[in-house]
Amino acid sequence: MTERRPFVGGNWKMNLDLASSVELAEDITAGLGPLEIECDVVLCPPYPYLQAVGHALKHHCLGLGGQDVSEHSGGAHTGEVAASMLLDLGAQWVIIGHSERRHGLHETDQLVAKKVAHALESGLHVVLCCGETAEERSAERTEEVTTRQITAGLAGIAAEDLSRLVIAYEPVWAIGTGVTPSVEDAEKVHGSLRSLVSRLYDPRFASDLRIIYGGSMKASNAGEFIASPEIDGGLIGGASLKSADFLEICRSIGRILEA
Ligand code: PEP
Repeated sequence: MTERRPFVGGNWKMNLDLASSVELAEDITAGLGPLEIECDVVLCPPYPYLQAVGHALKHHCLGLGGQDVSEHSGGAHTGEVAASMLLDLGAQWVIIGHSERRHGLHETDQLVAKKVAHALESGLHVVLCCGETAEERSAERTEEVTTRQITAGLAGIAAEDLSRLVIAYEPVWAIGTGVTPSVEDAEKVHGSLRSLVSRLYDPRFASDLRIIYGGSMKASNAGEFIASPEIDGGLIGGASLKSADFLEICRSIGRILEA
């Protein structure tokens, strides 16, 4: 981990219910202590629980995020949620381009780009996800795929807006499988993404940009990922659903910050 402010996101996906969402948020706030000031900890519950979880985060420094957002600002888009609605409910963050949407729901790079642009214009902070499938990895196409996804996702985004964006490298084959790349392999991708941002903008913006890792990160492996100077934190799925596991991941960051 470097000088960049660490980021830990909890992507709760379509899990929990109202009561357990609030309880989880309360347990996390109770257990975090001073860490809530030292790093960005952002909880991303399902849309219907945003307001209640936001209420549980009141008087704390944790962030609240949506798991997706529409590319439209409003109107006849049944089932969609606008950036202004997330902001209305107290969210400051949104995850865009998660592999479960890219692959499960066929979201294209172009759609992801529209969402990123609209979310940033609306004032949200964005976690922009990228990552290769197992087949792409076997074909040694990881750099090509992540470069394509991030180049498209950042199209038209002003350099000044990059301070409100975090890139999450999430190999698709690592999500929810218990399998992870080696820290060295993840570092290689993070390094190539930082060089990409340096080419697209300039080295100053690239060195300030946070690039986090996601995919089967848990208490037992978070420390080694986060200790890497290339890895600025994590996006956590399964292990964000239990306060003890999520807090232990956050504490790994605390230990590295103290070292
Ligand atoms: C995710 O879906 O963003 C994720 C990282 O999931 P998991 O931690 O469960 O692999």
